[in-house]
Amino acid sequence: MRGELPPEIPEAPPKPAFLLYTVPVRLTFFGTRGYVEESSRTHSGHSAILLEANRFRLLCDFGENRKGLLAKIRPDAIFVSHAHPDHGWGLWEGTDLPVYASAVTHEILKELPLLNRVVVEPREEVAIGPFRLAAHPTIHSVRCPAVGARIALDDFTFVYSADIVAFEDPDAALAGADFYLGDGSTLTGSLVRRHPSGVLIGHTTVRAQLGWLARHGIVRAAFSHFGRGPIAMGDEALRDAVERLAAANPPGCAVTVAEDGLEMEVGP
Ligand SMILES: [Zn+2]
Ligand SMILES: [Zn+2]
Repeated sequence: MRGELPPEIPEAPPKPAFLLYTVPVRLTFFGTRGYVEESSRTHSGHSAILLEANRFRLLCDFGENRKGLLAKIRPDAIFVSHAHPDHGWGLWEGTDLPVYASAVTHEILKELPLLNRVVVEPREEVAIGPFRLAAHPTIHSVRCPAVGARIALDDFTFVYSADIVAFEDPDAALAGADFYLGDGSTLTGSLVRRHPSGVLIGHTTVRAQLGWLARHGIVRAAFSHFGRGPIAMGDEALRDAVERLAAANPPGCAVTVAEDGLEMEVGP
């Protein structure tokens, strides 16, 4: 009985069993190539990244040349970062699974045969199975406005940048994150351009993203969505180059260069 405890003994708040520890998240890369002509044995599929925890499978993006693979990937829910073909057009195969995307992305993709659309509002957390997902708007495209995802499982936080020049609110997107999955379009040569309207579009560098991680104390990351240069240099040189860039940004970050078919566990 609570009332019978002597006042000097602090009473621990009861903790539900499911919060005692955070299970690891299993990541599977079903595609690690951006919207480029270049392709290799290890980078041929467009973006399709599966997060699995507590036997719930959340697919992040499903690019054009992954169409037909939903039965193999067996997701329980799908998040689409933006309406570019290499992120959403795999869904031309159609599904009755819940598809989470911003209002503008659903509008652009309105012809797709999706029977269960869920609109995510900027920075508002939604529960998807065991995950809590918040969409964070990014600077990337005028025609297909993009969001990244900040995905939490208990006290573990995973950030998926999708395609990115920058987060509109970098602190909100990155503060306290444990793991970052970034845009591997280019290592050091900027692919950022200025749209006639004045806003920036395109892709920032892996080097710049590693700088964000260093500033926010995020020490684990993976890169995917590789562009022309990174695919052309070959995987060994690519790994070396990414590791060198990570080491050049103190305190350094343990980085994984993702490839098609790679599975890895991430967690606290
Ligand atoms: Zn892309
Ligand atoms: Zn894009």
